[in-house]
Amino acid sequence: MAKPGIESQYCAYINGEWIKGGRTLSSLNPADRRDVVATFGEAGKEHVRQAAAAARKAQKGWAATPSPVRAGIIQNFGRLVEFNKEALARVATREIGKPLMEALGEVQEVIDTCNFFVSEGRRLYGQTIPSEMPNKECYTYRRPIGVFGCMTACNFPAAVPSWYFVPALVAGNTCVWKPSEDALLTSYYFTELMVKAGVPRGVFNVVLGEGPTTGAAFVELIDEGLFDKVGFTGSTAVGRRIGEACGRNLQVACLELGGKNPMVVCEDANIDLAVDGAFFSGFGTAGQRCTSLGNLIVQDKIYDQFVDKLIKRTKAMRIGEPTDGTNTYGPLMSERFMKTHLGHLESLIEKHHETPLGKGGWIGHGVAWENFSGNAEEGVYARPNLVLNVQLKDRIYATETFGPIFNVMKFQNMDEAMAMANDHGYGLSSAIYTNNPQTVYRFKNEITAGMTSINNTTSGAEAHLPFGGNGKSGNGGRQSGIWVLDQFTKWQSVNWDMSGKLQLAQMDTAYIEPEMAYRI
Ligand code: NAD
Repeated sequence: MAKPGIESQYCAYINGEWIKGGRTLSSLNPADRRDVVATFGEAGKEHVRQAAAAARKAQKGWAATPSPVRAGIIQNFGRLVEFNKEALARVATREIGKPLMEALGEVQEVIDTCNFFVSEGRRLYGQTIPSEMPNKECYTYRRPIGVFGCMTACNFPAAVPSWYFVPALVAGNTCVWKPSEDALLTSYYFTELMVKAGVPRGVFNVVLGEGPTTGAAFVELIDEGLFDKVGFTGSTAVGRRIGEACGRNLQVACLELGGKNPMVVCEDANIDLAVDGAFFSGFGTAGQRCTSLGNLIVQDKIYDQFVDKLIKRTKAMRIGEPTDGTNTYGPLMSERFMKTHLGHLESLIEKHHETPLGKGGWIGHGVAWENFSGNAEEGVYARPNLVLNVQLKDRIYATETFGPIFNVMKFQNMDEAMAMANDHGYGLSSAIYTNNPQTVYRFKNEITAGMTSINNTTSGAEAHLPFGGNGKSGNGGRQSGIWVLDQFTKWQSVNWDMSGKLQLAQMDTAYIEPEMAYRI
């Protein structure tokens, strides 16, 4: 099969075949938009339907394959990803501008996820449970859910899909994936690695396309009952629509959505450590992580000192070519994200805010950055921004900005800090810097986020820890580690009566009368 170059018109991978069709979608390098990374076709509604039909047809056979054998294919996948680690990371860097070091870390997370779930294929434990009646046994089994449909965002084009598909496949589900339109080539190679790992025909299917077209068709097909389980990683707005469609079909979607992640810095904290943490979680990946810092909440006594250090550190930041390891961040993932970012600068920053790094914007398009080393004309690079004097009532306080910009707020006591950390309604990640165990205890207990770091940044995840959010960040589902198995299996409870007679629970159960009147 020809490698996809700029001529590829593949729009879907269905039942073991790449299919051509649809209008042409181009994937451009955001560090230099003259570099066309790849072109693909766009799948229509009928392709999504065919992909789901192929997954349905293959599901029984896949579920009947012993789970250690299924996990063996995941082991092959993990090893293939390992052998292709640098190449896959370079594709992701070229396609979405993620700094190469971070892209390598992301691919490592795919490998770690495979390593974790390979052994899970030999467990997938159920339980044996005593019955209340003689000669009767009870058991639980994890059964696959069926056909799993999934749509993902572009900022983690390899790790996030692996969080879904690795456990889903080990558990015996077949899959239909609509990846992000901004990471077409990375998604193509992810699929090819699955295929080369030995995933059978029909078990893993892919439809390529944009959100309002292919994505919208995917959502409509939830109502046709084509999927037994839906996973979605992306914005809260689209996640709501998916949740609604699943809800009316009596399904619980796995929704992994946006964040406005707080970091509280107390007066007793190690200030330099906290500055490092704020800097990386605010500007790493150009702020385009779901776990990026949204609201930095600093205690009044150290506020001026802290903000001064942060501004100095930020002014010295190098921005540019994502393959150059000295740059903190590269371009935004595509021009679409730049448009949204510029819109936020226009609409969310109010008169009472201070922006000590100057007006943000598109580097090379009316704004400059001293330590810049990229192609300003052809790249999509954003200038960093800090917004001070943010209040709870401000729109920017509760709006995910998903770019190199974050708010700074001042608090006097922990009541105020907790309100600032929670009131925006998101609940993905959170962090606190303090050396006071009482403060840590309170923060851990009262923060509404699904993930909490102590003396560490808001961003970053480990492949074996539960990942997920609450409130506007998701519906409480968790990915990664053993917890995600509850997304991809349904519990079956079985009882086996070998007594040869009808025994009724509660009614035929032996009950031993105590001598209740006994007293010492
Ligand atoms: P997005 O919601 O625009 O897109 C995500 C997916 O949905 C893509 O595949 C896209 O094609 C599709 N889509 C877009 N519009 C659609 C529509 N109208 N109908 C159907 N499908 C549609 O998200 P994005 O801007 O690409 O990604 C950034 C968002 O993702 C941020 O909010 C970020 O916080 C979130 N995110 C969350 C996590 C997490 O695990 N919680 C991880 C990564 C990203």
